[in-house]
Amino acid sequence: MTPHRAAPLVAPADARTRRLAGLKAMVGDTPLVSVRLRYRGHECRVHAKAEYLNLTGSIKDRMALHICRTAIEQGALGPRDTIVEATSGNTGISFAAFGAALGHPVVIFMPDWMSEERKAVIRSFGADIRLVSREAGGFLGSIANAETLAGELGRVFLPRQFDNQANVQAHALSTGPELIAQLARLGLEPDAFVAGVGTGGTVMGVAAAFAARGLGARVHPLEPAESPTLSTGHKVGRHRIQGVSDEFIPGILRLDALAPVIRVSDGDAILMAQKLARELGLGVGISSGANLLGALQVLEREGWDATVATIFCDDNKKYLSTDLARSEPILAGFMSPDVELLDFETTLARPLG
Ligand code: PMP
Repeated sequence: MTPHRAAPLVAPADARTRRLAGLKAMVGDTPLVSVRLRYRGHECRVHAKAEYLNLTGSIKDRMALHICRTAIEQGALGPRDTIVEATSGNTGISFAAFGAALGHPVVIFMPDWMSEERKAVIRSFGADIRLVSREAGGFLGSIANAETLAGELGRVFLPRQFDNQANVQAHALSTGPELIAQLARLGLEPDAFVAGVGTGGTVMGVAAAFAARGLGARVHPLEPAESPTLSTGHKVGRHRIQGVSDEFIPGILRLDALAPVIRVSDGDAILMAQKLARELGLGVGISSGANLLGALQVLEREGWDATVATIFCDDNKKYLSTDLARSEPILAGFMSPDVELLDFETTLARPLG
């Protein structure tokens, strides 16, 4: 018989501070991957932050760790408090891992159509996962359920990633400044940035970092062509770019402060992500494929020698049960068949001394 394992010790307050520092060493400071390619006769470069190299494998580690740290410092997340969040996946993985590291039980509400890998990874960190069907409200239902449970349990911390300014701040303090510094080491200044919007934390934070340094670079939010919630203002259609366009316009997103919305088809994003893996060994997720195609649309606007940056948000391992691992039909108007990947170069966040 397997011996019964004792429940993990709850980390006392000073241990939490120490563990936060330990976690911080494994989050952020990601390399910048500059992909060189030819698109419809134009040779150009797209610069992407390799966010799949964060501890749990996605950009959401930055936001989740910053929110945990801020909440601990402000006394909003007391020892042993339960973390309850609604998420389409990567945020749940980040909070589940950090909750385990910091001694907090974690409950994640998630739409039931998200990939099996996402659910399995969240469970692997010991978190309690509650699936919400489309009939029960899907994404908005998950948020409502999180709020209700918090009211019932007491001693609960709700990160509320869609409304929490610490989400924006995480990217204003880390993603944005890292990107600017890495481009500067290549002798470049950003002309534009584009990224798929889930909570909008990435685009709003990077825009704030550009503004803080007096850079006039344009920041474009990106949405799936099949579900243009940002352009229409409400939930419309369905799409396969998991992690973006969660059915409503998030509270922290200010479209009036950003450049025009870019649209990419989910099938095109899948084909682009597959191509990055097959031809360059960059095994990225679906939203990363979308972001690269979005960057090409921005390059078309800005001029082919412009400096356009984006994000490779996560890798392909959470999508092995999805269409990313299947054969995707090429439809008229797709961009990815015209992308010829040539090479890539990597710039570390901190030069080796
Ligand atoms: N891509 C993936 C795979 C994600 O999980 C997320 C976050 N939900 C995003 C993109 C969008 O990031 P943000 O929430 O900062 O807008």
